[in-house]
Amino acid sequence: MRSFQFHRAEDALAAIAAGAKSGTRFVAGGTTLLDLMKLNVERPELVIDINRLPLDKVEPLSGGGLKIGATVRNSALANHPIVRRDYAVLSQALLAGASGQLRNMATTGGNLLQRTRCMYFRDAAMPCNKREPGTGCSAIGGANRTLAILGTSEHCIATNPSDMNVAMTALEATIHVRGINGKRSIPIADFHLLPGDTPHRETVLEPGDLITHVTLPPPVPGSRSFYLKLRDRASYEFALASAAVVVTVEGGRVARARIALGGVGTKPWRSTEAEALLAGEPVGEPAFRRAADAALRDARPQSQNGFKVELARRCLVYALKEATQ
Ligand SMILES: Cc1cc2nc3c(=O)[nH]c(=O)nc-3n(C[C@H](O)[C@H](O)[C@H](O)COP(=O)(O)OP(=O)(O)OC[C@H]3O[C@@H](n4cnc5c(N)ncnc54)[C@H](O)[C@@H]3O)c2cc1C
Ligand code: SF4
Repeated sequence: MRSFQFHRAEDALAAIAAGAKSGTRFVAGGTTLLDLMKLNVERPELVIDINRLPLDKVEPLSGGGLKIGATVRNSALANHPIVRRDYAVLSQALLAGASGQLRNMATTGGNLLQRTRCMYFRDAAMPCNKREPGTGCSAIGGANRTLAILGTSEHCIATNPSDMNVAMTALEATIHVRGINGKRSIPIADFHLLPGDTPHRETVLEPGDLITHVTLPPPVPGSRSFYLKLRDRASYEFALASAAVVVTVEGGRVARARIALGGVGTKPWRSTEAEALLAGEPVGEPAFRRAADAALRDARPQSQNGFKVELARRCLVYALKEATQ
């Protein structure tokens, strides 16, 4: 394995173009990549350290909204005054993740691309379609208590483990990428892929694509947001179910809602069904319960994770109450 560090994105991309694109990995905080290299799950030919690229700023956009550089650390983003004031759900989600030490290393780009915590994916001795296409899925019929109930396929039921991604989905973030063939911007709803019959493809990124930054739209006037994470212990644990909500109330009725679930989907799970159902409804538990039912209607539990259906419903109802009281 070879490793390089660059100060300019052009140089990093030129190195990729000249080398083995599919065998290249960028390293930012290293909290996902290095673990997986030690486990022999990731075996890159070339590692490019992007920590010296000028991508570490949080900047307000001229027309409103926020630009977040790809190497902004999770702790810096969570504690940024604009994020705390205008995008509270993002700050709460980041602070619910991992530990203080990990958040000081983990970056925005790396968090978007963190891999599943399915135990079979991380065990190179076990069959796993995501790690080695065509070998089978050990979790279906195996240990699947923590895995997904929404967006699954017969080939993979792994959960997207990120808290940040759930908040960014409710905030309708856009991910900006620079690749060998130019720049492009991808709404977060289109960024992560469902497993289908290609669970090894997790995002729309092509080999060598560098995430440069993420943008958030201006906050909706009068909106309030909340992130709730339910897990087996109070800290340093991944979500069994989580909910990110951004809600605007006018005259006692929901004027607009954006809803995303974590811990239950194979990708950060936006529920446009729940959002549509809430629009115009009076604020209160009956409407929140109907929205939660809609969000979980297509749930397909496995042998050990049926409890997640009701857990996720209650999680969403609670988050909606908190954001609207
Ligand atoms: C013990 C432990 C507990 C954790 N608990 C939680 C938790 O509760 N909630 C949670 O959400 N997360 C949790 N995490 C995951 C953590 O948030 C991620 O590991 C972290 O966000 C990844 O960021 P990084 O910068 O370290 O990524 P890296 O490890 O550097 O990179 C991860 C992947 O992204 C790619 N990459 C990185 N930056 C870019 C870029 N700019 N462009 C293109 N590709 C890029 C890398 O090539 C690699 O494939 C936990 C991790 C650990 C180790
Ligand atoms: S759920 Fe996905 S990641 Fe886990 S063993 Fe099955 S294929 Fe692999």
